[in-house]
Amino acid sequence: VVAALDLLQRELVAANRILANEGVLDTFGHVSVRHPEDANRFFLSRSLAPELVTAADIIEFGLDCQPVRRTDVRLYAERVIHGSIYRLRSDVKAVCHYHAPALMPFCVTDVALVAVSHLGATMGRNVAVWDSRHDFGDTNLLVATDEQGTSLARALGPDWLVLMRRHGATVAGRSLREVVFRSIYANQNADILHRALVLGKIEPLTPGEVEAAAAVNLQPLAIDRAWECWKARMPDQAAIK
Ligand code: MN
Repeated sequence: VVAALDLLQRELVAANRILANEGVLDTFGHVSVRHPEDANRFFLSRSLAPELVTAADIIEFGLDCQPVRRTDVRLYAERVIHGSIYRLRSDVKAVCHYHAPALMPFCVTDVALVAVSHLGATMGRNVAVWDSRHDFGDTNLLVATDEQGTSLARALGPDWLVLMRRHGATVAGRSLREVVFRSIYANQNADILHRALVLGKIEPLTPGEVEAAAAVNLQPLAIDRAWECWKARMPDQAAIK
């Protein structure tokens, strides 16, 4: 079990650095993974830019978002995003929260983020939208209380991606590699869609196409191939050994 956990924590380090290197996680994004043996726990870095995360920075949390072992290190204020989704969705094993520039136009307009590409289909049939104003009025936009986290997790519902108005996005997955894959390709789909809308009328994938394309792209064959590629092109190879 210790060896398996060690491996998972190293995967989480790689996930942080891949998502940063691929331009998805900025200084303020974060990615977590549920404990494989104890569904009531999850792993997330201490408060740190994702491209700097090492195995020593990974902290184990309960679903109340408190560290399992007492620590004095600073924690992400928005860790409630992770705990709230793990509480409401037993099928979710990994969560990523980010503010990638490619997605932001869809967080600040009413233009729907729809799947327009084969790989964008991994966003799922519906992209959920959450507006903190509806439940909380004027805030500093951080999702930092249990109530805010729960409200966001409810808005995600059964979907895989929820856009957060004027803030960013939160993505869920059935595995760490799946959440990394979905986050990167949601970003790429947003970029393609944005450019396409400038050119003219778009024709999104049909629900049936989304279903079929997502199923094929989320197989290990595709996910692992991409993972190895993203890993190989990271600048600091020693950090992910
Ligand atoms: Mn945020």
